[in-house]
This record gives sequence, C-alpha cells and structure tokens, in this order.
Amino acid sequence: MTSMQERYDLVILGSGSTAFAAALHAAELGKSAVMAEFRTVGGTCANRGCLPSKNLIEAARLVYDAAHPRYPGLTPVHMPFSWAELVAQKDEMIEEYRAHKYESLLDDPDHMQVVPGQARLVSDHEVEVRTPDGPRRLIGSQLLIATGSAPSIPRVPGLWDVPYLTSDLLSAAGDPWGREQREQPRSLLILGGGYIALELGQMFARFGTEVTLVTRGRTILSGYEPEIAEALTEILQEEGLRIVTGAQGRGVRSEGEGVALSVKLHGSQQTFTADSLLVSTGRRPNTEALGLERAGVEIDSAGAVRVDRTLRTNVSHIWAAGDVIGRETASQMATPVGAHDGKVAAHNALSGKPLREVDHRVIPRTIFTDPQVAVVGMTDEEAVAAGIACNCNTIPLSVVPRAGAIRDTRGVIKMVLDGPTRRVVGVSMLGVNAGEVIHEAAMALRFGATTDDFIDMIHVYPTMAEALKIVAISFTKDVNRLSCCAT
Ligand SMILES: Cc1cc2nc3c(=O)[nH]c(=O)nc-3n(C[C@H](O)[C@H](O)[C@H](O)COP(=O)(O)OP(=O)(O)OC[C@H]3O[C@@H](n4cnc5c(N)ncnc54)[C@H](O)[C@@H]3O)c2cc1C
Repeated sequence: MTSMQERYDLVILGSGSTAFAAALHAAELGKSAVMAEFRTVGGTCANRGCLPSKNLIEAARLVYDAAHPRYPGLTPVHMPFSWAELVAQKDEMIEEYRAHKYESLLDDPDHMQVVPGQARLVSDHEVEVRTPDGPRRLIGSQLLIATGSAPSIPRVPGLWDVPYLTSDLLSAAGDPWGREQREQPRSLLILGGGYIALELGQMFARFGTEVTLVTRGRTILSGYEPEIAEALTEILQEEGLRIVTGAQGRGVRSEGEGVALSVKLHGSQQTFTADSLLVSTGRRPNTEALGLERAGVEIDSAGAVRVDRTLRTNVSHIWAAGDVIGRETASQMATPVGAHDGKVAAHNALSGKPLREVDHRVIPRTIFTDPQVAVVGMTDEEAVAAGIACNCNTIPLSVVPRAGAIRDTRGVIKMVLDGPTRRVVGVSMLGVNAGEVIHEAAMALRFGATTDDFIDMIHVYPTMAEALKIVAISFTKDVNRLSCCAT
C-alpha cells in the first residue's frame, strides 16, 4: 500500500505531556502540529505514571491511617476494600482527566491532531506512522522527538523466562501495550530502590501485600542525601516492608505459582520468593526503532537524544524534549520538565524569534511515599564535587511545631549552603507535605536566597514550611531552644 503524504509545520513523535505542550504552543503561534502515538493519548504521566500512582497511593494511605491512627482516643479500624473497584475508579479518573486535559484539545485538526500508530523517521523531514488503516507519511518543516522513556530491564539470567511486572501495571484500561494489575498480589518482590519502587512498594504493603524490596545500591534512593535514605528506610521497615540493599541479582526462576530471585548478598547466595515480581530498575529513553539514523540524529551513551540548551539536536530542524533527552542539559525525567521544555522547543522551532535556552538548575522533585521526600538543588556530595565550599545541616522534624501538633514527627530536613556567601544551594526533606514545602526552597534557589532570607521571612504558624526557617537557623543556633514561631 502506498502511504499518504501530509505536510505540517511541526511533526511530533509521541503524545505525552511534552508533545502536548509543544503542540499547544504551535497552535498558539498559528502553526499546524501533528503528534504520532502508538499507545494511549496523553503519554506515561496521565495514563500509567503520575496520576494512577498518586490516586492509589492516597487510597492506600486512607486504609493505612485508619488501621494506625496517630492519636490516643482514636480506635484503629480495619477498613475493608475492593481492589477491583479501586482499579476501576482509577481508570475512570484517568479517563476523565485524559478527556479533559488532552483529547478535548484536539478539536481543531487544522492546528493540532494525533495520528495513532508507531512512528519512525524515514528521512530528516519525513515520519512514517503505521496506523491501523495503513501507513501515513507526515512531512514536517520541523520535527520534535518526544517519545518519552520506558522501563529499563536489567540483564538478570532467567528474567526473560518468567512473567514479571513493570510500572506498566498501572496502565489505563484500553492501552494495547499495558498490563494493568487486576488482582492484588499476596506477596511482591520488587527489584529496584528508586522512587517508583518505593512509591509502589509502600502502596502495595499498605493494602496488605507482603513486600520485599531488593536493590543493589548500598542504600535505597542512591543519589539522594544519605540521611533521607536512612530515615525513609527505617520508616518503611517499621511499616513492615522488607528492604534488602547491596544485593546483586544472580538469577530468576519460576517457583510454583510465583517467582524466586537469587542474589549475592554480602558474599553469600540468598533466595527470595513471592507471588509476583515487579522490575523497577530505572527508565531508559525511547530511542530504539525510531529511525534516528535515517535522519542522522545523534544519541548519547545512555541512549538519550543529544541536544544543546535550545533543545536542538545535531540536525538543525529536529528538536527533542522530555524523558527522551535523559540527563542531557542536566535535565530530569519528570512531567513538568517535559511540559516546560516542550513549549521551549516549539518556540525555538516555529516562532522565528530569538532562541530560548532551558535552565535546569532548579527542578524541585517529590517522591510520593508517606511521608514524602522532596528535593531541590544540590546534595552535599554534589556541592563538594562542584567545588563549592559547602556547609550542611540536618535537623529532625520533631523540632517543627506543626509536626508535633499533628503527632507526625517522622523525617528530617537538610540544607546545603555555599559556605562563604551563605547562599542556599540545596534542600532535601523527608516529612509530611514535603512536596508542597519544597516550592519555597525552589523559589529561594531561583533568586539566590541566603539563610537570612529564610530566617527573616515570616512563615505561617504552625506549618511544615517552618522546617525551612528552622534548618536555616540551625547553622547558628541550637534549634531546641527556640520559642514559638522559630524565634
Ligand atoms: C509509575 C510512574 C510514576 C511517575 N510519577 C511521576 C510524578 O509523580 N511526577 C512526575 O513529574 N513524573 C512522574 N513520572 C514520570 C513521568 O511520567 C514522565 O517524566 C513523563 O510522562 C514524561 O513525559 P514525555 O511526554 O516526555 O514522555 P511520555 O509521557 O512517555 O510520552 C511519550 C509517548 O510517546 C509514545 N511513543 C514512544 N515511541 C513512539 C513511537 N515510535 N511512535 C509513536 N509513539 C511513540 C509513547 O507511547 C508515549 O505515550 C512517573 C513515571 C512512572 C512510570
């Protein structure tokens, strides 16, 4: 069958948050944009990432808190729940969100549309999409690669021969490639110690699944402040998760109805078994089978599309943004980064105005465990590696009045300063509402604030945000000797 040829100002591979931000901006500029998508419109975040996970994590918190009230006088109750109904409401919520935030925007096909099917470059201006009705050839004056990322699967012998789950277990109903988890596993072995492993691990454990998390890292959350990793490990262990660190996966095999994972642990061999195995060992940029070589687009050693700070690839009219650029330009794989950068890429590709550069120095980030982990800027180790004469302090959240008032003092906050100027270069927090609190720190980093700025600013009392003021004070005073409102 010969393919139809169609011309657009911007042809986008993918239809996630990065692609939509770019397509919307193209439409605002009066240009025509088309996206190609082989799974569900809206991409990972809406359909199988952020939204479904946060939806079920909150339900798990309600179940857990009912059984573990923090207040004497509240009686623990075992809250019965239906996994099937929880999954069904999750799908319904996603469907509504997708209809509202993505599909409803596709009402003007002259400016913005999605072509269903797998896309690949056939030349530096042409993208072929294998649609259910046959191939379509989309010709773009400009192209944007926004194909996101996929779970990366480690080479553990036997893994390919056993059934295993990935974060796709949250996939929206109707995703041809998704593997939605329609039954709650009685026991779950999780390979990995990053944010997805921890969020999903705690969620399943709170619903009553027996969870064993096995990671090769010395601690969970490698790359984060060790104080945070250590405190979160204790919290999760107290909730009943089994956490095994420093384990090298040696082999996986089926055992009865379940799976067995053998690891090398402190020099000896050990085997863990469970009903199901979830592989959550990171994500890799989706650059395979895209035909990048046909257009001469370069990738880096991690498989990410190589871009400069304007998000331009080595081919002048081809751009890339979102998860697919990996750590290029110090980017991070997160939805708001892709959405921000998608717009920048569309501006640079189509506006004819001076090029914008991305600035990835301040990217606040949250892990939605309970309590949450939230970070912005540099860790202690990163500051040292960057040659900063840094000064760091970590305090427990028990010194924050709100934490005491609501009987939840779990967690710590750490601040990293540029010693000589006292400018704050990094904050990491584990605690209630850390994902909200971190925005104050992010704004402070953006404007080069010092510890004095945090101390002088009047904070609402009693809030968790006071943790920032108190940790800033801790560089010069004993924070156990403060009166109300951190004075
Ligand atoms: C379990 C989980 C939880 C997460 N939680 C959060 C969170 O709380 N907050 C946060 O900020 N981030 C979170 N993320 C990360 C977030 O989902 C991603 O950073 C974000 O979706 C990246 O957007 P993107 O548009 O770059 O890529 P994607 O959303 O992945 O979109 C790319 C799209 O391109 C399509 N595609 C790929 N190749 C082709 C091809 N050849 N042809 C056609 N289509 C193609 C894919 O099917 C996909 O739909 C989470 C991720 C996971 C997996």
